[in-house]
Amino acid sequence: MSRCLKHPNNELSSGWIYVHPETRKIIRGRTFPELVEAAKEYAREHNFPIGSEFSRQLEEAVCDDAPSLCKECQVEGEPIKVTAGMVLRGTKTMIAFLVAGRPVVDQPEATRRAGLCYRCPKRSRFRTSCGGLCNEMKRIVDRIVGTRVTGVELGLSACGICHCFLSASVWLPLDVQCQGVNDAQRSGFAKVRETYPCWKEC
Ligand code: SF4
Repeated sequence: MSRCLKHPNNELSSGWIYVHPETRKIIRGRTFPELVEAAKEYAREHNFPIGSEFSRQLEEAVCDDAPSLCKECQVEGEPIKVTAGMVLRGTKTMIAFLVAGRPVVDQPEATRRAGLCYRCPKRSRFRTSCGGLCNEMKRIVDRIVGTRVTGVELGLSACGICHCFLSASVWLPLDVQCQGVNDAQRSGFAKVRETYPCWKEC
């Protein structure tokens, strides 16, 4: 379970502190966003890389030093209602999958993706009372997943950004599943990656 800051915008009396793991330099900020900016500035000045997980890594480091500032990240949002539009999009993805010759990623990659989704604060669930549409979605997922398992229980989990069925999408190559991702969702994934290492780089 990953940890998230309870109140990242609060000003702490002693300030927010991050100790650089290599130089042991103490970096401070009045709020967590200010701490991230100060740490980025320090990294730039000293030619340390600033990866897409930079802010998330700082958050984990702060939580290591001050666990009382943190809580478990919420991993499930409001249940998502399955709609006819989602079934249509799922059908299109399934057709793209079949036309491409049923390509899937290898087991380690699918398991890596499933682990990230499982801990992701954007993971949600489908509402279970959706009758025929749910059955239709299940049929699509079964055609893609078959008997494959990742070892990570994703069940009815959905991505809160694109509303895809995660137990199927973790197996699909990006060039197949990204065909169903629109610009707003693409921006949503980019926003998630500012604080969490989402694998879905469409
Ligand atoms: S696809 Fe990305 S944003 Fe969606 S649940 Fe998985 S890690 Fe989170």
